[in-house]
Amino acid sequence: MLPPLPRFQKRLLAWYDSHRRDLPWRLPRDAAPGQKLDPYHVLVSEAMLQQTQVATVIPYFHRFLARFPTIESLAAADEQDVLRLWQGLGYYSRARNLHAAARKVVADHSGQLPPTRDALLSLPGIGRYTAGAVASIAFDQRVPILDGNVARVLCRLDAITSDPRSPKTQSLLWRRAEEILPPKRPGNFNSAVMELGALICTPRSPQCLLCPVREHCQAFESALQYKIPAPRAAKPTPLLRRATYCIQHPRHPDRYLIEQRPANGRWANMWQFITVEKGSSPAVSLRLSNTRFLTSVRHALTHRRYEFDVYKAHATSDKFTTDPARPRTWTALDDLSQFPLPRPHLKIAAILRGSHAHSAR
Ligand code: SF4
Repeated sequence: MLPPLPRFQKRLLAWYDSHRRDLPWRLPRDAAPGQKLDPYHVLVSEAMLQQTQVATVIPYFHRFLARFPTIESLAAADEQDVLRLWQGLGYYSRARNLHAAARKVVADHSGQLPPTRDALLSLPGIGRYTAGAVASIAFDQRVPILDGNVARVLCRLDAITSDPRSPKTQSLLWRRAEEILPPKRPGNFNSAVMELGALICTPRSPQCLLCPVREHCQAFESALQYKIPAPRAAKPTPLLRRATYCIQHPRHPDRYLIEQRPANGRWANMWQFITVEKGSSPAVSLRLSNTRFLTSVRHALTHRRYEFDVYKAHATSDKFTTDPARPRTWTALDDLSQFPLPRPHLKIAAILRGSHAHSAR
């Protein structure tokens, strides 16, 4: 028979108080009594942490808040500035949604993030997890959260062997995440479950001997901790092939033609070197000479992979046609930082810089 729930809650919170990481979006350990988190900081951190590791997020979080210290400043920002600060973090719809949410909060809520889950859910891009995280962590509402870490911990605690991503198991886990919430400090408790999943109850090597809630864990009791959760059946991810043309200006060899991506879809509104599906020609209405293959750049996302065959070519004139919906411009490599570029194109820019440095020697 497992020990009672209040003991589980108390132990986990005590462990969190003494073992949690100091992270810039959390209150410092020496915070004055009654000191509160800024809900906007919680929202930004939660948007950045989706699909992204803590160590990667920290410098982005600092830079983002230095540039947009308040939700009003984010709401007033140009989308290109927001994307530039997000550049390299990936999953750019998070940045666009965060920006849209800030605008709605300023327009409809006088710049104050609403404290309830339901009101948070009405903001662009805020789903059940983020609404629960902001409501509980920033406003101490007794609202559950369920992300990958929480799901793994709950599956192990209850020895749930079904696929945690299946809809049936998801609804069971959401219910359990709510049932185990204590009446006091629900935000810290949610953070504690996630922290346990990140530090102790890790995917491949749970450190059960260090675990503060070992005596509440059915997987540990049955020696199932390495079998739960069941590994995901590997699905082949599609490979999308692209050809990227790095077109050099006829008179300024450090300048290249870049284009803005469409307003919808992956990397929306970001900039790139001229890119087409592999096998198509670059529709730039420019005569190109000396086109040569440089390298291939690969980029893997959760559900698809990309392969960019990169070519370098000289334009024989600097005049090109452009579609108003897809602006194009010549830019020097040193000025590329003014444009938000997806990660594969950042890599291509680095390769071009390397080749220029090499030829300048
Ligand atoms: Fe995870 Fe092991 Fe703790 Fe159970 S005892 S919650 S499997 S770390």
